[in-house]
Amino acid sequence: GRSVCGGSCAPGFLRLIPLAGLSPRGGGRVAGGAGPRRKLDFRLVICGAHARVGGMRTAIYPGSFDPVTNGHLDVLQRATKLFDQVIVAVARSESKRPLFSLEERVRMVVRATQHLPNVEVDSFESLLLTYAERRSAQAVVRGLRAVSDFEFEFQLALMNRKLNDRIETIFMMPKDTYTFLSSRLVKEIAQLGGDVSAFVP
Ligand code: ADP
Repeated sequence: GRSVCGGSCAPGFLRLIPLAGLSPRGGGRVAGGAGPRRKLDFRLVICGAHARVGGMRTAIYPGSFDPVTNGHLDVLQRATKLFDQVIVAVARSESKRPLFSLEERVRMVVRATQHLPNVEVDSFESLLLTYAERRSAQAVVRGLRAVSDFEFEFQLALMNRKLNDRIETIFMMPKDTYTFLSSRLVKEIAQLGGDVSAFVP
């Protein structure tokens, strides 16, 4: 769970809170293989108030993800090495008339990122920077495929900085084999009966 400590924890601390009084069948996970089975009665609490001060680094990876592609996942995987937590924030993007509903897009990202322990998937409808602030993020991650992405992304990053100077935009380049890949092309190929299995999870 994520909560605010009320000032009692050291900056950025993750705390294991013992959960006293759980019944043997209650919520915790059971550990141990062949030996005696032990129950782990702890809850991990991340202090939301101190996370920003104390080194817990959170980034938001926003996008339409209509649908999520291997290029998105490549950038995401790189970002997970730099940050303690990466929140994939699926934008409603109504104006882009997405093919998949917000719920479908979120579900697809959840399934594609199950192997990444420090990734959370969420959706948002507000201004990105408002959302990032609410989630105590320090950075926004965006992918850069080619020079053609640069102009728009540069403009967006500078506008976002005007709106909120505390949150940095980080650009990451995918593996070269994904630089040609876009959700739009995947949809076009699929709609014309082409095989997209190499491009999407
Ligand atoms: P948006 O509607 O915000 O552009 P997208 O889902 O199209 O959302 O893209 C989200 C982010 O992922 C953007 O920064 C985009 O440049 C990046 N991205 C998209 N496809 C790729 C790819 N093949 N490789 C790397 N980054 C990508």
